Amino acid sequence: MGRYDDYDPMDIDPDTGRPYEHDFAGPGSALRAASTSNPRNLPCPTCHWPNRLTPRDVELGYQCDRCADVMEGKGEIDYYDGDDGEDEGDY
Ligand SMILES: [Zn+2]
Repeated sequence: MGRYDDYDPMDIDPDTGRPYEHDFAGPGSALRAASTSNPRNLPCPTCHWPNRLTPRDVELGYQCDRCADVMEGKGEIDYYDGDDGEDEGDY
């Protein structure tokens, strides 16, 4: 999709002058924005791409934005085929 390619959740929100950390990860996204206490360091449970979700996202049962789009009928899941199974790739 490419719509978040230039989005950095640690950027300052120009509207509020504060970081996005308490906001959603991006426009149209259900994911939590990453922060120092909620780093985006966990793999998506669906496609297994690393660093797609924050602990808060996982707690809430989310998957990454790409997979969420697929669930809405947009495109196909792009499964990660790297080092799968090395850490949490088995669930
Ligand atoms: Zn995913």
